[in-house]
Amino acid sequence: MDFEAVKLLLDQPKNIVITTHRSPDGDAIGSSLGLYHILKAHGHSVDVIVPDQFPGFLKWMNGSDSIIVYELSKIRSKQALQKADIIFSLDYNNLSRIADLGALVEESKATKILIDHHLEPSPDYDFSLSDTSASSTAQLIYTFADSIGLAKHINQPIAECLYAGIMTDTGSFKFSSTSALTHRIVANLMDCGLVPDKVHNAIFDTNTFSRLKLLGFTLSERFEYDAERKISVLRLSNEDKLEYNFQKGDSEGFVNYGLSIDGSKMAVFLSEDEEGYTKFSFRSKGGLDVNKIARAHFNGGGHKNAAGGKLDMPIEEAYKQLRKVIHEMFKI
Ligand code: 5GP
Ligand code: MN
Repeated sequence: MDFEAVKLLLDQPKNIVITTHRSPDGDAIGSSLGLYHILKAHGHSVDVIVPDQFPGFLKWMNGSDSIIVYELSKIRSKQALQKADIIFSLDYNNLSRIADLGALVEESKATKILIDHHLEPSPDYDFSLSDTSASSTAQLIYTFADSIGLAKHINQPIAECLYAGIMTDTGSFKFSSTSALTHRIVANLMDCGLVPDKVHNAIFDTNTFSRLKLLGFTLSERFEYDAERKISVLRLSNEDKLEYNFQKGDSEGFVNYGLSIDGSKMAVFLSEDEEGYTKFSFRSKGGLDVNKIARAHFNGGGHKNAAGGKLDMPIEEAYKQLRKVIHEMFKI
């Protein structure tokens, strides 16, 4: 990224829209709100637009109540995009990841800036900070702000947003994407007033009783392990979700239980959606590239060790499709 040019661009007050991906996670919301506050503190007028609703366990973040949910506020979203001078794409790198919102961003004449850490970024951006080795987009927001002289605006609420993104995308600093730089940036965030355990509590110790019962049910009834191929599959149908009063975000992290089996190479979580499609989450360890599998067979993508996708079919069919792919790919 040409930081000097972006710095110049951001020297005068602008109308800015920040967008992030469908089914926003901790990194999507944390990086978006972190950048939102930094740019506002620098005198810009800023809106964050997300394609669909985000989970309740992220709603403690400062500014989360001013996020525009496109699915619920299409007119407001269009108005914000129409007057935008600059549009940021955070934590995704292809407009197909933001569903219908993608067409509106594409037709806008605004300057488009990408900040992301996923593989194979689209080249259609005026400025790109795309680093697949970065732990999270939130980490890149810190680097971005620091490189254009805006890190001075980072205060406690902003540090909490960025930390939430870094912490969730690194599985609490457990994944191999966690680097010395990740920890250095967290140390800087602590110097800005961050209290890490407050963020951990807000994200992990806010379970509902029904969510924990759902986890128990998933692990005992909807979890299988192929000991030969060392692959776990977990799945939840619409019916299962209904029984446990499923709320958005309730199955976050379930897939990681599959990968926690000693020697496990890959874990897949299938989740049926009310609209009738099935969403896939893939996790792997070591050399197995789940981004490639998600891209080749499940209309998705992501990172080498964490990816997602979806098939427009009910879960039973999607499960059969997965079994077929596993049989073809992992012949023993
Ligand atoms: P999750 O399994 O937590 O939903 O997603 C894991 C990773 O894969 C995330 O980095 C996410 O951005 C990416 N991902 C999830 N779903 C999709 C998808 O449908 N398409 C693409 N390209 N990436 C996805
Ligand atoms: Mn991310």
